[in-house]
Amino acid sequence: MSFKNKPVIGISTNILTITDKPFVGHERIYVNQGYVESVTRAGGIPLLLPIVKDLQLFSQILPMIDGLLLTGGQDVHPLHYNEEPHPKLGRTVEDRDKLEFSILSQMQEQKKPILGVCRGMQLINVAFGGTLYQDIPDQIPLSTLKHAQEEAPQSATHKINIVKGSFLETLIGDTTFSCNSLHHQAVKDLASGFIVNAKADDGVIEAIVHTGPSWIVGVQWHPEMLIDTYPVMNKLFEAFIKESARRASGA
Ligand code: MN
Repeated sequence: MSFKNKPVIGISTNILTITDKPFVGHERIYVNQGYVESVTRAGGIPLLLPIVKDLQLFSQILPMIDGLLLTGGQDVHPLHYNEEPHPKLGRTVEDRDKLEFSILSQMQEQKKPILGVCRGMQLINVAFGGTLYQDIPDQIPLSTLKHAQEEAPQSATHKINIVKGSFLETLIGDTTFSCNSLHHQAVKDLASGFIVNAKADDGVIEAIVHTGPSWIVGVQWHPEMLIDTYPVMNKLFEAFIKESARRASGA
C-alpha cells in the first residue's frame, strides 16, 4: 500500500555541553545523523524536536507529526520511577526528561506510532510504569555480557534471542540477531501493557512492544547505526514509517 504524503517523523534531540573553543560551556542540541538517514531512507520526513522549557509550544508542533522517534542519550532520572540516584548513574537532563515524557504521552493519546531507541526504550518503559537497572555491571551481578561496547557503533557485538512469533521475529525473519550495544542501563520491571520481544543471553531485555492498539516499539540497541552494516535493520524503520503513514491517512 502506498500513501500520497510522506509521514513526518518527530525526532527527539540530545544536548551537549561544548568543551571546545570558542563555545566552551554553551549547550548544543543535536541528533546523530543516523536517525535522520534511517527515517529518510524509509520514506519519512525527519523533523527535529528542540528541547524547550515551554512545553505548551508542543501543542502546536505535535499535530504536524505523524510518528515519534525517541532517541538515545543521557540516563532517565530515577526519580521518575521512584528510586534515588545510584552512584553509577550517568548524566541526566531534567528538561529533556520532562519534554519527552510529555510528548510521549500526547502522541500515545493520539494513537500515533512511537519508536524508542536505547534511552528511548527505557523512557517508554518508565512512562508506562516500569523501572530500570541504573547500572548493569553494578546491579546485575550475573550479567556476563558486555553491553557497553568499545567497538565502533556500526559493529554488532552481542547476540539477541528473539521471541518466537513476536513482532520482531516477523520483521527480522529469524530468532537470533547480532546487534550493537551502547548502554549501561536496562529495563528492570517491564511496564504493564508491554511484552518482551528480545533478550540478550544474560537476560537483559533488548526489545519491548506494546500489546494494545498503539504502535509502540522499543529497542535497546542502535538500529540507526546498523542500516548499512546490517541492512535488515532498515525494516524496523520501514515498519515504523509505514504505520505512521497508514494512521496519518486514516486507513
Ligand atoms: Mn545490549
